[in-house]
Amino acid sequence: MDNEKRTMDHEGMKSGIVHFPLSDVHFDNSAKTIEIQSNISLAPFTTMKIGGKARFFVKAGNEQQVADAVGFAKKNDLGLFVLGGGSNILVSDKGFDGLVLQIALKGIEDCPGQDFGLTVKAGENWDAFVAYCVERDLAGIECLSGIPGFVGGTPVQNVGAYGQEVSETIVSVRCLDRNSGEIVELSNAECGFSYRTSIFNSTMRDRFIVLAVTYRLKKGGVPKIVYKDLREYFGGTAAALAKVRKAVLNIRAAKSMVIDANDPNSQSAGSFFKNPIVPGSIITEIGVENIPHFPVDEETVKIPAAWLIETAGFYKGYKLGNVGISTKHSLALINLGGGTAEEILALTGRIQAEVESKFGISLQPEPIFVGF
Ligand code: NAP
Repeated sequence: MDNEKRTMDHEGMKSGIVHFPLSDVHFDNSAKTIEIQSNISLAPFTTMKIGGKARFFVKAGNEQQVADAVGFAKKNDLGLFVLGGGSNILVSDKGFDGLVLQIALKGIEDCPGQDFGLTVKAGENWDAFVAYCVERDLAGIECLSGIPGFVGGTPVQNVGAYGQEVSETIVSVRCLDRNSGEIVELSNAECGFSYRTSIFNSTMRDRFIVLAVTYRLKKGGVPKIVYKDLREYFGGTAAALAKVRKAVLNIRAAKSMVIDANDPNSQSAGSFFKNPIVPGSIITEIGVENIPHFPVDEETVKIPAAWLIETAGFYKGYKLGNVGISTKHSLALINLGGGTAEEILALTGRIQAEVESKFGISLQPEPIFVGF
């Protein structure tokens, strides 16, 4: 029954086309039905190109369809996984024995009453949105060029790069509250942003589905050139917004951190490990000279995970079966072709064990693990 399209009714989960009644949740759009597919292979929806099948799969193009999909999962006691751009997930070889909800809400709107405020639907491609803003001379997200995935994923992990984070420009996040079935608009403060963290991936994990995000940008604002890579690129001179975007894209591409179908190194989930934040005292305890580190606050420092991995002996290009480490960036675990989630887990465990034994630091994976 591979890729067979069918819909299920709320009562008996019978096969055949069934039109869903509106769920209890009502808001301003007219869609009344969702189409549920079964046995859909998830690997093509991920940048790693790894993973088994979803038992059920819905593509939601509007808010009502999101609500209906949630209602369907609840009614049928199914686990629900919300899929965005698939750029930060590792799907199990067994797949997902529940409902995968693909967010396909599209559109960018000016925000009434807010200068240079833009409300962007969760299913918009993030980098296309960055390009759209840069073309309009709107500053605030230019350093986040080339990051794969959808807009809806950006508040979840407070996406950041080269000294910029989305929390600096997010005004509010429109969500479906899975507990109450209501649509809520969370302010920036309510999102609880910190380094690569928000309530969406910590205290309130699995409660909200992001539907749209409102950003406030700065017309004619000065682009941010703070990080060494960028400063070196421009040799200390100021640069226009479009040039900063191009520089970030070039720097990322040189590390194979821009998705490119012709670059096998980019068949990855981006950075596979978080850069650990540890007590500053660890730097002296480790006793290795010149450990790169950056102060986070008075007590803690951030150590680049890439440095820990390489120093623990995992060189760029390291292979384990059909998976390995990118030849361009030691933080990216890649599928060399035909790789499995099991192989990625084996490599993850090997790296974690070696880094732990050498430095006493526990590396935490950044992607979300689905169906394990
Ligand atoms: P990188 O530029 O080699 O930086 C490695 C680490 O050093 C990161 O933790 C970075 O902090 C830190 N760092 C470098 N220069 C710094 C400075 N001047 N001040 C404070 N901290 C500094 O990293 P990369 O792996 O090639 O990635 C490039 C950028 O993309 C980094 O900013 C990285 O964090 C970001 N990135 C973000 C995500 C995400 O949002 N999920 C995923 C992949 C990569 P920061 O992490 O604070 O930048």
